[in-house]
Amino acid sequence: MKTIVEPKQHIAKLWGKQRIEEDTSYRLIKYVLRVDHEGEVLLHNVVTGQLVVLDQEEAKAVDELPQNYNPVMEQLVAEHYLVPEGYDEHQQVVSLRTIMLKLEANKERPINSYTILPTTACNARCYYCFEQGVKRVTMTEETANQVIDYIVSHCGENRRVAIEWFGGEPTVAMNRIDQICAGLHNSGINYISTMVTNGYLFDEEVVKKAKNLWHLRPSTNPCFTLVAGV
Ligand code: SF4
Repeated sequence: MKTIVEPKQHIAKLWGKQRIEEDTSYRLIKYVLRVDHEGEVLLHNVVTGQLVVLDQEEAKAVDELPQNYNPVMEQLVAEHYLVPEGYDEHQQVVSLRTIMLKLEANKERPINSYTILPTTACNARCYYCFEQGVKRVTMTEETANQVIDYIVSHCGENRRVAIEWFGGEPTVAMNRIDQICAGLHNSGINYISTMVTNGYLFDEEVVKKAKNLWHLRPSTNPCFTLVAGV
């Protein structure tokens, strides 16, 4: 398959590649236009906007539809030209359109509330932990800088944000909390924060920092552990 016109980026990103289902019978999706021109078969996916010309094997596979998946169909499936026989493409397009309309509506709206996970690691081993088995990853310095940039560019004109620190145990990566708060402070952002924490790492020094740098406040969520310290 050779691409003549690339798919629209925002749709391709939203829809992604279609997962292949072996032992499944495929047919053409309804939203494809086919043109036969000088011995070549061109397909235009009107949802993604992509236009492709097929190689001979792919053209033969398309001529023989519906048929069970075989490796020649790999790209045709991945790029949403072929779908399983029972597939509801109308519903799929309705869902894509709904998501895009929502994204468009929210585009200009400032984001003033954030939940940030500096780490998924934890210093406790609660038997009831709902995160058991979750991969332990900690935010890098580079990612924390990207978080600061994102908040600064999306918080709107009033430059006020509320952050909830979540994890894992957020204080296990308190250097990232320090970094993000310092970055927001230096950018003139007015911020307050709450935290879901087991509190083990709080001592006098951390309490002072929580008050003066993190601007930590008691959580209003009754389900969450309160660490006021301020
Ligand atoms: S403190 Fe929270 S994250 Fe850590 S083990 Fe206990 S329940 Fe899990």
